[in-house]
Amino acid sequence: MTLSDTLLEWYDRNRRDLPWRAAPFNRPDPYGVWLSEVMLQQTTVQAVIPYFNAFIGRWPTVEALAQAELDEILTAWAGLGYYARARNLHACAREVAARGGRFPETETELLTLPGIGAYTAAAIAAIAFNRRATVVDGNVERVMSRLHCVADPLPKAKPRLQRLAADLTPSLRPGDYAQAVMDLGATVCTPRSPACSLCPWAAPCQARAANRAEAFPVKAAKVIKPTRYGVAFWTVDPAGLVLVRRRPDSGLLGGMIEIPSTPWIDARQWTLSQALDYAPAHADWSVLDGLVRHTFTHFHLELTVVSGVVDHNPDLGQWHPPDRLNSLALPTVMKKIARLPRTLGNEPK
Ligand code: SF4
Repeated sequence: MTLSDTLLEWYDRNRRDLPWRAAPFNRPDPYGVWLSEVMLQQTTVQAVIPYFNAFIGRWPTVEALAQAELDEILTAWAGLGYYARARNLHACAREVAARGGRFPETETELLTLPGIGAYTAAAIAAIAFNRRATVVDGNVERVMSRLHCVADPLPKAKPRLQRLAADLTPSLRPGDYAQAVMDLGATVCTPRSPACSLCPWAAPCQARAANRAEAFPVKAAKVIKPTRYGVAFWTVDPAGLVLVRRRPDSGLLGGMIEIPSTPWIDARQWTLSQALDYAPAHADWSVLDGLVRHTFTHFHLELTVVSGVVDHNPDLGQWHPPDRLNSLALPTVMKKIARLPRTLGNEPK
């Protein structure tokens, strides 16, 4: 029996019950596979499930998603992070709909679609179309590095782990196999305390034999994330409406709704007078107690929040009641800013 046979046998008994594998997706459906894989990049299965169900409930087909407004998608995506993915999701849905509503079947063709990189192309080709494509996510890297005791640290080891994974990918049932390795990594070969006694690959696994499973994958020394600083403006009109505006389409949080702020810079050098150069309007600004902290992939952010009352002016942006902000495409960091004045109960009167 080959390693892939052993794993597929295990998968048939132990596969995870996930919504994109359930009705109406009992048969792998390209739309469900694509949507779930885009959502799963950088995010956990548990975090994705409610978003996946909400998207499928609201937009059951790729054509329906293509017809949605970008803003509706960004709002539904809010909280999942990495908002460029939501924008690409919309662009990709439109492209697929324009091509007749069918996803292409090969990795090469899939790579021509917006937002689809090597990983997602391989996942769709394998899982949705049962093509022999090698899908390598963090789970698969961990399993391969342990199975073969790969001593090179990540990310340098990635090409080798990819080759090792490709060598094991079978021609028969490659889609099930791709999901099986991911499931093994997620449920048995976990980062800490892997359940080697339950593992179908326990016998050939070199890391288990050496009693060193947790030593793999070897990771390069962590780069310490810098902290950036800024000042956010909680801007209220005399009727209590709050000012928000849309961020530029490109860059961090592109196209999302924001509470106005200064640029976020590397040094904690903001004085109130410096920050007020970036205020959306003139006001008697007062500094609120507390700080808003948020962590992005590459940096931590620390924001001071100031509040002030200004004349209502539609040219400054959109004005909404504070309790409506949650229904907008507000990323998590902006929700945190919006919570601070209300938590303190010191919104300007
Ligand atoms: S035997 Fe243990 S370390 Fe090796 S693949 Fe299985 S769970 Fe992972």
